[in-house]
Amino acid sequence: MSTSWRIVNGRIIDPANKIDRIGDLVIKDGLIADAAQPVAADLPVIDAAGCWMVPGLIDMHVHLREPGEEYKEDIVSGALAAASGGFTAVACMPNTKPVNDNATVTAVIMARAAEAAARVYPVGAISLGSEGHQLAEFGEMKAAGIVAVTDDGRPVRDSQLMRRALEYASDFGLPVISHSEEASLSTGVMNEGPVSTQLGLKGIPTAAEAIMVYREIALAEFTGAHVHIAHVSTAMSIDLIRAAKARGVRVTAETAPHYFTLTDEAVIGYDTNTKMNPPLRSAADRAAIRAALADGTLDAIATDHAPHSILEKELEFDAAANGIIGLETALPLGLALVRDGLLDAGQLVRLMSTNPATILGVAGGSLNQGAPADITLIDPQQEFVYAADQIVSKSRNTPFLGWSMQGRAVLTMMGGIIRHSLLA
Ligand SMILES: [Zn+2]
Repeated sequence: MSTSWRIVNGRIIDPANKIDRIGDLVIKDGLIADAAQPVAADLPVIDAAGCWMVPGLIDMHVHLREPGEEYKEDIVSGALAAASGGFTAVACMPNTKPVNDNATVTAVIMARAAEAAARVYPVGAISLGSEGHQLAEFGEMKAAGIVAVTDDGRPVRDSQLMRRALEYASDFGLPVISHSEEASLSTGVMNEGPVSTQLGLKGIPTAAEAIMVYREIALAEFTGAHVHIAHVSTAMSIDLIRAAKARGVRVTAETAPHYFTLTDEAVIGYDTNTKMNPPLRSAADRAAIRAALADGTLDAIATDHAPHSILEKELEFDAAANGIIGLETALPLGLALVRDGLLDAGQLVRLMSTNPATILGVAGGSLNQGAPADITLIDPQQEFVYAADQIVSKSRNTPFLGWSMQGRAVLTMMGGIIRHSLLA
């Protein structure tokens, strides 16, 4: 298997190094080499004409369901879905069975990750069992390989515990990822508004998210620790994060493609593939999310890839599980923002690679010479219909089936090894 290549005639987009130009990339023994130096005449060539050559995409929020629910996804299948979507690295949330709240579970994930088609970075739990009572051993989990902590899937209800988590994580240089939800308000199944009234479904107000976003900001400001807000869905949260950043608070934030693409009107028809937590919001919230991606208030696009089988989804709306898969649609949906003129190409690469690498403190996010050759080739023009038989993930729970998409990853390379290719 070759790990040395010359990738020619592509548009190199590397915002970390302020590069956006047509050129060649040279990969030598799995590392990015100096393209200006002479190369061996027999180096295999990849023609990237018409394509973008970008640092491998990094998804900082996925659920890979292993250990415990491998019928939905496992580390190997999830990493294949990631590579297919242009991702060379993912960070997997700890709400597995058992929860990744100790170094033994982290080590199991790391061992499986070693065979995967993408880099898999485990995220450890904040509290034992993610039950919100007792802090997990961050130091032992960090030594085993975690890159952040979170009780994602559930909020940390106890503010004192969250304060301790921020202080403790700070000692180890780990960001704390907040699933921001005020649980006593958040008892519905979709966004609270005219559409929930029309459908007769119980709503979740935007305030349920914003209240907790504010608590996390207040605690980060007070402790000086780094908090990262997961899956931001509301305009109110955006306003809070923007103001906090202006004060110098160490807060970063992500949103997911469904929040900048869909609104709660997608729930009309009761398709359970439109049910997720936080829920799809109003058009005004979607507009605020899009503006925040453009002005840098939001740092990252993450998928919140949440595979479920039909057992959890082919139920009435109230009873169905939350979440959708996202690894194979995130890039095309992100590229739509570039076509809409909302983002330039470099901004999209920042949101999907450079910033996630920085927030998690992991490799990648740039095309620095000497770094592992984690590279994604994107054809921004290629059109396709997203069909069930093309899905690489084990699960099919997505509201985007049948959508006409434009732009996709045509080649994904990790450490110089091709993990996905649609090129001839
Ligand atoms: Zn969450």
